[in-house]
Amino acid sequence: MGSQKATRFVSGRPFLQIPGPTLVPERVVRAMSQPLIDHRGPKFAALLKEVLEGLKWIFQTREGQIVLYPGSGTGAWEACVVNTLSPGDRVLGCVNGHFSTLFCRAAAAFGIQVEPLEVPYGVGIPAEQVEERLRSDTNRHIKAVLVVHNETSTGVASNIAAIRRALERAGHPALLLVDAVSSLASIDFRFDEWRVDVALTGAQKGLMLPPGIAILAVSRRAIEASRSARCSRSFWDWTPVLERNAHGEFPSTPATAHFFGLKESLTMLNEEGLPAVFRRHARLAEACRHAVRAMGLDLLAQNPDHYSNTLTAVCLPVGFDSDAFVTHAQRSLEISLGIGLGKVKGKVFRIGHLGNLNELDLLGALAGVDMTLKSFGVPVPVGAGLTAAENYLLQTAPNIDTSAP
Ligand code: PLP
Repeated sequence: MGSQKATRFVSGRPFLQIPGPTLVPERVVRAMSQPLIDHRGPKFAALLKEVLEGLKWIFQTREGQIVLYPGSGTGAWEACVVNTLSPGDRVLGCVNGHFSTLFCRAAAAFGIQVEPLEVPYGVGIPAEQVEERLRSDTNRHIKAVLVVHNETSTGVASNIAAIRRALERAGHPALLLVDAVSSLASIDFRFDEWRVDVALTGAQKGLMLPPGIAILAVSRRAIEASRSARCSRSFWDWTPVLERNAHGEFPSTPATAHFFGLKESLTMLNEEGLPAVFRRHARLAEACRHAVRAMGLDLLAQNPDHYSNTLTAVCLPVGFDSDAFVTHAQRSLEISLGIGLGKVKGKVFRIGHLGNLNELDLLGALAGVDMTLKSFGVPVPVGAGLTAAENYLLQTAPNIDTSAP
């Protein structure tokens, strides 16, 4: 061992600044490290009850039911589609980036006819266009509207409340199916108030767990729709999950250790309080955007009303390949940044700032971005981004008296 050339040793905190998976807090790691319990026993039943209640609180729902599977966001897309739709159904697919494209593709794979409502990367889904499209569907053929709340490829958060109002104004009965993978537990998400029919997510972003669980909140209307939905389904069928959950069990083996972790992460979110969690994410995101602007770089997101509070997609100047930049950042400082995806591959990199993150974590990440930009040859004024972020954080600090001499 001693003489073998191992992979490079890295001391200190890992800078996993991709927009998920996020760093798992120590408390969650410890909770997950306990001995496994029988997933058909009374202890697990009690744990499940607690976790389901906690998730309802996170989705801000009393009406909705929670459905969990071993899996990830991609599995949750499939669960959402196969339980609510039938082959040949038409849906309005809102597309403004890579993940919304894939969500629609998941539906198309089951024979769903997806009518795309496509806007450029960097733009939020315009509610008025949703309304227009639904109004023109006079025979009410469209069964559902598919939309990604926070498009992780672009750093754009669409306004789901406005999209719900668009459905209402059009008087259209379509189901509202929302991907909340990179927003839930970081950006305000109101399942009941926005009358969302299915909201889906994974464990590995705002919930601060390792990847491994697909999570859905489903409305009464969505459960009704599942009774007549004819897409083939077996593992992803939510009916047996809901039935067995009522008795504290699952139809197959759940990701037991993740339930320990989820209980702990829900406790942490509860200790901080949801409004404070949202405020923290908003403040760190704004500090990041201040830094990017001060570096002289452009955000991919166009409209401040749609800026994402969980990640920032940054455009590199023409002539620089962002994939190569991300590799360079990894090699030189061991910081992991998100690559450009879909139509902006090679053009943007993404800074994740969600989950278990504080001011100094963000500043460390921004220092890493700053240094690697410089060593990559991008003409940035070194330190300008950090100064801008620090000043913003000082001006908005809840606990620091900035008037002190
Ligand atoms: N939806 C969004 C918005 C995402 O950001 C991701 C992944 O990052 C997915 C879906 C796919 O989720 P997963 O990679 O967990 O399967």
